[in-house]
Amino acid sequence: MNDARPLLMIPGPIEISDTVADAAGIRPPSHVAPSFIEAFGEALEALREVWCAGPDSQPFVVAGGGTLAMEAAATNLLDPGERAVVVNTGYFGDRMLEMLRRRGVQTVDVSAPLGDAPSLDAVREALAAAPAKVLFATHVDTSTGVRVDAAALAALAREHGALSCFDGVCATAGETFLQADWGADVYLTASQKAVGLPAGLALWVASPAAMKARAGLHAPPSMSLDWSVWEPIQAAYEARSPSYFSTPATTLVWALRAGLREILDRADSPRAAMLQRFAEHDRAARAMRAAWAVLGLKPLPVRDDLQANTLSALWYPEGVDKGVLGRIKAHGAIVAGGLHPAAKTRYFRVGHMGEVTRRPSDLIRTVRAVAQGLADVGHAADVEAACDAAREVLSEADAG
Ligand code: PMP
Repeated sequence: MNDARPLLMIPGPIEISDTVADAAGIRPPSHVAPSFIEAFGEALEALREVWCAGPDSQPFVVAGGGTLAMEAAATNLLDPGERAVVVNTGYFGDRMLEMLRRRGVQTVDVSAPLGDAPSLDAVREALAAAPAKVLFATHVDTSTGVRVDAAALAALAREHGALSCFDGVCATAGETFLQADWGADVYLTASQKAVGLPAGLALWVASPAAMKARAGLHAPPSMSLDWSVWEPIQAAYEARSPSYFSTPATTLVWALRAGLREILDRADSPRAAMLQRFAEHDRAARAMRAAWAVLGLKPLPVRDDLQANTLSALWYPEGVDKGVLGRIKAHGAIVAGGLHPAAKTRYFRVGHMGEVTRRPSDLIRTVRAVAQGLADVGHAADVEAACDAAREVLSEADAG
């Protein structure tokens, strides 16, 4: 890695591995080349493993972003007039609500003050008040750094006869998620986050019950978002034969196979590899939090159990504003400003997902850049003590 280049430490796109960068740099293959068909088939199989999903679940790889995957879920799971409960923890919960409203769905917005998540009791109440077809939640809301208890929410949905759908765009392959064990119906993401690819792919895995919901719709979704149109294409490639609806993003699918394989090949079984990856993200996040505490930086999430492992959302200290971001970059790390409209100018965000969670030197370099940037703008920052605090956590025995 070139040390002169600042590290990309925003909450997506993120630093990618050399293996993925090499795969993404190939000459674009044809979508019917035997080698591409094999790559697509292997990527689909690997997707199920990375999602810890059941063998009967349906993986989808479609050119697009997280927004496309969200809209596909909103329009394939519900008919106009049906009811959905949205656990809303920020900007992306608001987006899902708007998509559902445009579909004509009756929405119940279960939200909490900035930096908090609604209690399970509040969600239970909303589900019990009137039958809901689907419970939506953002696993990690990138605007607040708040993580919900996805296992508990999936269980609540099941208890009330509802499907569950999780926006994992800032979580998938970084935060623990066991789709089959938890009985979660849809888990969706985009390629540029913890999965560790360039932007450009929408990825999701749907349970048989979710596919059944699509089959039972009266009002089909628009054609290019329709799971029923895409499903035979995915099935064909998984069976190692090509099929056409819209040209796949061949280079990105090629890189996807490389990236997912790299994740899965690191342990004896796919499950062990995923548990190890989740533990690596947990350790990296604890190291960053230890450093932030030394620097006097306070997180947006109001309780420790709400803090995501994939990013830190941090209030600017007294007297500091977005001007510090340029100083942090000058010291070697690109971090992001705020996103939530209620507090946009008052906080900043540092991503820590994917490959960097395995590279203590990159994490320490990021801590150092943030600390030096803060010192430049007059915030008392003990740079070495912050780096030491992070280093101490990172020196724990191997994660996993
Ligand atoms: N959901 C969440 C939680 C996100 O972080 C993002 C992207 N920041 C999206 C959805 C939308 O993804 P995309 O920008 O790829 O459309």
